[in-house]
Amino acid sequence: MTDCIFCKIIAGEIPSSKLYEDSHVYCFLDINPVTPGHSLVIPKKHFEFLADMAPEYAAPMWEAGRKIASALRKADIKCDGVNFLLADGATAGQEVGHVHLHVIARYRGDGAGYKFDPNRKLPDDDEWKRIADSISSNV
Ligand code: 5GP
Ligand code: ZN
Repeated sequence: MTDCIFCKIIAGEIPSSKLYEDSHVYCFLDINPVTPGHSLVIPKKHFEFLADMAPEYAAPMWEAGRKIASALRKADIKCDGVNFLLADGATAGQEVGHVHLHVIARYRGDGAGYKFDPNRKLPDDDEWKRIADSISSNV
């Protein structure tokens, strides 16, 4: 993909702070970190969405994420926990159209977190079952 920032990073056309790479993935520091050490794991082949990803790229991406998370915990940075975040689609917050797994070092008082509607209504039993059936039949 000629216009993709992350393809350009993989090609070395845009500089990045490389953390790790293998035949399928490239890992580097996010330019606008949520916390110091915020890393991104990307497949070396361009896929826009998770569902597009070939399994031979998907599995190494998660495995590299596991490696990075382990490194964050050992590195000389504040890290008591790790969040994985993958924004799949613009509505989910995806800004770069090349699949990427965020690996975010967390520590007490870092100010990061998820936002949910505190007044959200939980599904009733029938709706709960309908949701479970609908998802499971599409797995
Ligand atoms: P998204 O919002 O799509 O889940 O995340 C995209 C991430 O890519 C953002 O956290 C953003 O800071 C990061 N990013 C965007 N452009 C660049 C870049 O040129 N270099 C690096 N290292 N990170 C980038
Ligand atoms: Zn790309």
